[in-house]
Amino acid sequence: KLYNQVQDLKGSIRVYCRVRPFLSGQPSYLSSVGNTEDGNITINTPSKHGKGGRSFSFNKVFGPSASQAEVFSDMQPLIRSVLDGYNVCIFAYGQTGSGKTYTMTGPRELSEKNQGVNYRALGDLFLIADQRRDTFHYDVAVQMIEIYNEQVRDLLVADGTNKRLEIRNSSQTGLSVPDANLVPVSSTLDVIDLMNLGQRNRAVGATALNDRSSRSHSCLTVHVQGRDLTSGTILRGCMHLVDLAGSERVDKSEVTGDRLKEAQHINKSLSALGDVIASLAQKNPHVPYRNSKLTQLLQDSLGGQAKTLMFVHISPEPDALNETISTLKFAERVA
Ligand code: ADP
Ligand code: MG
Repeated sequence: KLYNQVQDLKGSIRVYCRVRPFLSGQPSYLSSVGNTEDGNITINTPSKHGKGGRSFSFNKVFGPSASQAEVFSDMQPLIRSVLDGYNVCIFAYGQTGSGKTYTMTGPRELSEKNQGVNYRALGDLFLIADQRRDTFHYDVAVQMIEIYNEQVRDLLVADGTNKRLEIRNSSQTGLSVPDANLVPVSSTLDVIDLMNLGQRNRAVGATALNDRSSRSHSCLTVHVQGRDLTSGTILRGCMHLVDLAGSERVDKSEVTGDRLKEAQHINKSLSALGDVIASLAQKNPHVPYRNSKLTQLLQDSLGGQAKTLMFVHISPEPDALNETISTLKFAERVA
C-alpha cells in the first residue's frame, strides 16, 4: 500500500522487515522463503496453515546477510528530518530472540562495524549538525526510559533507583516524561556512556531465567533543538528509538502470577500500539492513544507530521514459525 510512496517521508508510516541469520545450525523454514530483496517475503507454510505460500509486502525486507550499515542507510533520511524539526519514532518489534536489540543496539561484543541504529543515528545527527554549523546551532539531549508492567522508569539514574514516573504531555517543553533525567550530549561518546548506564539499569532485577529486558519496552529519546543563526527561529524535533518487549504469546495454561501479569501488560501495550498505527495508516479520525503507557508516551510523535518506522524482526528457526506468522500479520495490519 505504502510501497509506492517510499520516497514520500512526510507524515508517513513505513514498515520494514529483517530476517535474523540462522544461528542453531538446523535447516530453516526460511530456505523456502522467496526473494527478500524486493519488499516481499513469502513463507511456504506447512499444511496446517493452509496450502501454498503466504506473501507479505513491506517497504523493505532485509535478508539474513544484511549488514548493520545497510540497514541503517535506509533510515538516514529520518535522522535528517529530526534536525529539520520533525518527530520520528523507530520501533523494533518481534519475538524474543528475533534480533530487535541487535538492530537497535548491536550484539553484546560491540565493535564499530556491528553497532546498531541507536549509535549510528546519534553519530549521523552530530555529523549533520556539524555540517550545518554556519547556519544553525543545535542542542541535543537524551532521555532513556523503560516501561515495565505499565510503569515508567528512568534508566538514566546513577543509583538504579526505581522511581515511578508520570507521563505528562507538555507541548511547552516537548517532554512527555518531564521528570526523567534529560542529559545534554555533544558527541557520540557521551551517548555511548549513557546507553551503557541505561543498559546496566535495565538489567537490574533480571536473573538468567528472568530476562526482564525482553519483557519491557525501552525507549531512547533524542531531543533536538535547532536555532537558525540568522532569523533566531527555533526548530524542535525528537526521535524515539524503541526496543519493544518480546511479542511472543505465552501459553496462559502454563504461566501464572507475575509472569502472566507481565504477559498481559505486554499484550495490551503491543496491541494498543498496533491499533494506533493502524488507525493512523487508515487516516481514521479517532486515534486511541490512551490505551497504553507506550502510546501515551509517544502521542506527540505518532501521527500528524511525525514519521514512523515499524521494523519487524523474524527468526528463521523452525520452532519460531508460528510467532513469525503472527509477527507478519501484525506488520500487515499496520502497513
Ligand atoms: P531480541 O532483542 O529480539 O530478543 P537479540 O537482538 O538479542 O534478540 O538477538 C538474539 C541473538 O541473535 C543474539 O545473540 C544476537 O547477537 C543474534 N543476532 C540477532 N540478529 C542478528 C544479526 N542480524 N546478525 C548476527 N547476529 C544476530
Ligand atoms: Mg532484546
